[in-house]
Amino acid sequence: MLYISTRGHADRKHFCDILLEGLAPDGGLYLPEHYPQVSDAMLTKLRKAYHEQGYAELAFQILSLYIDDIPAADLKALCAKTYTAEVFGTGEIVPLRHLEDGLWLEALSNGPTLAFKDMAMQLLGNLFEYELNRRGEELNILGATSGDTGSAAEYAMRGKKGVRVFMTSPHGRMSAFQQAQMFSLQDENIHNIAIEGVFDDCQDIVKAVSNDLAFKRKYKIGTVNSINWARLLAQVVYYFAGYIQATETNDQKVSFTVPSGNFGNVCAGHVARMMGLPIDKLVVATNENDVLDEFFRTGAYRVRAAADTHETSSPSMDISKASNFERFIFDLLGRNGQRTNALFAKALPAYGRFDLSAEPLFAEAATKYGFESGKSTHADRLATIKDNFERHGVTIDTHTADGVKVAREHHQDPKVPMIVLETALPIKFAETIVEALGHAPERPAKFAGIEDLPKRVQVMPANVQLVKQYIERHCTPAL
Ligand SMILES: *Cc1c(COP(=O)(O)O)cnc(C)c1O
Repeated sequence: MLYISTRGHADRKHFCDILLEGLAPDGGLYLPEHYPQVSDAMLTKLRKAYHEQGYAELAFQILSLYIDDIPAADLKALCAKTYTAEVFGTGEIVPLRHLEDGLWLEALSNGPTLAFKDMAMQLLGNLFEYELNRRGEELNILGATSGDTGSAAEYAMRGKKGVRVFMTSPHGRMSAFQQAQMFSLQDENIHNIAIEGVFDDCQDIVKAVSNDLAFKRKYKIGTVNSINWARLLAQVVYYFAGYIQATETNDQKVSFTVPSGNFGNVCAGHVARMMGLPIDKLVVATNENDVLDEFFRTGAYRVRAAADTHETSSPSMDISKASNFERFIFDLLGRNGQRTNALFAKALPAYGRFDLSAEPLFAEAATKYGFESGKSTHADRLATIKDNFERHGVTIDTHTADGVKVAREHHQDPKVPMIVLETALPIKFAETIVEALGHAPERPAKFAGIEDLPKRVQVMPANVQLVKQYIERHCTPAL
């Protein structure tokens, strides 16, 4: 399998080459040349693999369709090492829980940092270590986080050979729980840098360092952001696992509702559907930052300015643009790299928007690709959390609540189960849970008292030079 760029001007590459690369050199995102098709017989085989051998085997079989430059035995071992009951809490890894009348929750948040990002990041950590060792190379991951991504990356990379993480975060702005999760890590290869500023300052620093190509090359700077194809691919697997658990035979369909921000999670659902997994609808749920809902309702994609990006109680969905969205648009445009380039490289920086509403192909987003969308607000979130607790005795997190709210509006066909992806556990967003329920959510035993653990963090002014000097002091330059 070879990978191409959505903008049509990059060399075709194998999986391991794009694994360590971010954007394609032409500024596009990588996608496989074609989507491997899963036949009825193959789906039966995957069903059996999941039930009899478990999630790791299912992951191995799906990943094998896309990775031809890692020997099968090695890939199998990497999957087995990643998806264990010890790391993810249950043997099913992503168990389904019934909520009401054909509405299900798929638990994706029982990994080390209690958010679904662990599902992909844990695999990425093992893939990076494997590939860097094979090449005799090192990688220094520089990132900016407001919470979930940074902790998932750190827990995935901690103790990994050949990898260091330099994670910037806005000083004093993450929740006490999130700070404790990240700063209590004592691993030598994990560096927390708390920037005296806001999240945008952190992002600006990361951009400035990455734009210094000489520095980037000398210190082998890389990223683990959500446009990485390997992360997306790892996420495809739990759509299969959800489908397999919700159905008994392959002639049944299911729908998914996905709390969305950067469009990474639901894009993996799109890939699974393109492979032939019998998915009826893919419902995109947004919060007040409704860039994506607006597109699927109207055909207009309008990137928001910083001033129009709201700080909400489902903060991991607070985005001004959806960085993975280009992948879907590329498919919608019949994989026309030139047009995708015209929209994303030309139209977007100049006008901040494009509008497909007048084009017949826009209707295909719903008719051919199954996309629907909806939006949820702070009041909806509180009401949904309260209602689920009172009627079902289940406490859901704020992002998942956005999903459940929107799923209920789109769950019309009783014969088609609707699966809502649970993207985090409520303890991560305890303040809003208290606001909704009047009491704090349950805390998993392994996180008891983490706020009291010693912290390992370097506080720094928002200054690119100081961050660079810190990196220089803590790694050996490449020769
Ligand atoms: C990252 C995140 C999301 C958004 O996922 P995307 O892949 O960016 O669409 C939703 N909920 C939680 C809890 C997250 O951490």
